[in-house]
Amino acid sequence: MEYFSLNKNAPRVSFKEAVIRGLAPDKGLYFPSEINPLSKEFIDNIQDYDPVTVAFEVIKQFVGDDIPEEALKNIIHETLSFDFPLVPLGDKTFSLELYHGPTLAFKDVGARFMARCLGYFNSQDAQSENVTVLVATSGDTGGAVASGFFKVPGVEVVILYPSGKVSDIQEKQLTTFGENIAAVEVEGTFDDCQAMVKRAFLDEELIQHKKLTSANSINVARWLPQMFYYFMAYRALAKRPEKIVMSVPSGNFGNICAGMMAQKLGLPIHHFVSGTNANRVVPEFLASGNYDPKPSVATISNAMDVGAPSNFVRIREIYDNNFDVLKSNLTALSYSDEQTEEAIRELYNDFGYIADPHGAIGYLAAREYQKSHSDDLLVFLETAHPVKFRDVIPSPISEAIQLPESILSILPKKKKAEFISTYSQLKSKLIN
Ligand SMILES: *Cc1c(COP(=O)(O)O)cnc(C)c1O
Repeated sequence: MEYFSLNKNAPRVSFKEAVIRGLAPDKGLYFPSEINPLSKEFIDNIQDYDPVTVAFEVIKQFVGDDIPEEALKNIIHETLSFDFPLVPLGDKTFSLELYHGPTLAFKDVGARFMARCLGYFNSQDAQSENVTVLVATSGDTGGAVASGFFKVPGVEVVILYPSGKVSDIQEKQLTTFGENIAAVEVEGTFDDCQAMVKRAFLDEELIQHKKLTSANSINVARWLPQMFYYFMAYRALAKRPEKIVMSVPSGNFGNICAGMMAQKLGLPIHHFVSGTNANRVVPEFLASGNYDPKPSVATISNAMDVGAPSNFVRIREIYDNNFDVLKSNLTALSYSDEQTEEAIRELYNDFGYIADPHGAIGYLAAREYQKSHSDDLLVFLETAHPVKFRDVIPSPISEAIQLPESILSILPKKKKAEFISTYSQLKSKLIN
């Protein structure tokens, strides 16, 4: 399988090179040159296969010959070492809980898969120099990346996060690993962190010293394994006759974009709904036809505070840049913080269910779509454990959240982070 750059001005590369580079030399996102649907027989009988086998069938064409079958199965086995329960909330609505991984975030899947792919490539090449993964986080990515890459040989990780703008638990998850994981606390916003990372990737002097790659969802090895969730949901619902609609809380639109890839592979997903917070570039685009990225606005669903969703170019590519086809497949809805809190209360009062603010937006979008499509099954993705956002979950619900073991064990650990305020500080840290 080859990957081309969506800026159309860089050579085609294999999976391995796309993973190591992250972004193409022309700064475009990589996209697979072919998408071959899976056999109808496989999809019709999906319940006969275990999750690792399903995931292997889903991803193998995108990896190609770069990782042999046994090694790839191993990587998938380690990636999917936890459950993805589908919890019914009423008759036709389900929460697909993606937060049972080591950092309680759905990003664990992509981060673990990518880390193990890079680890595999390093192990095959004794001469290879260390790779430095440089990533900016608004909260959730960092912990998943830190945990996924912890102790992976040949890989150094540097995580930038905005000082004072991540929750206490998220900060602990970022700053307590040590070893090959370094946390950098930046005076500024997430956009400032992101700008520093972008600048580093363009800095000729720096990239001569360091082999840098990204671990954001622009990396194909983080983006594509997210297809697994949709297959998992379908596998759990395959006996139901209704149409399946997926509602995805979205920020960079990587997750939902992977769902659309799953649909391209032949998975019977009838429609997509994206829920966003006040950062509503995509809903505005679908309403007006005008794509107008903006600086991000802070909300209580802060992992989705993205003003210029990086994966949206991939979504356009999936639908051949055809606005009408995209619009017939995607409904995009946006919600305020007040509505999000109200949804958290509603889920708790009606179902005794505690959602985090991101999942709550997925739920709101699912509900709204259901009003005009009452026959369909709605699956919303619950992308983070509520404990990670308990600071913004209304009382008394926040007190009812049980602290999972993985959180209890990091709370007493001591934070280790380097505080910086300028790009040159980052650069000298990376060079030394
Ligand atoms: C990253 C994240 C999202 C948004 O996913 P995208 O792929 O960026 O659209 C939603 N919820 C949580 C909890 C996240 O961490």
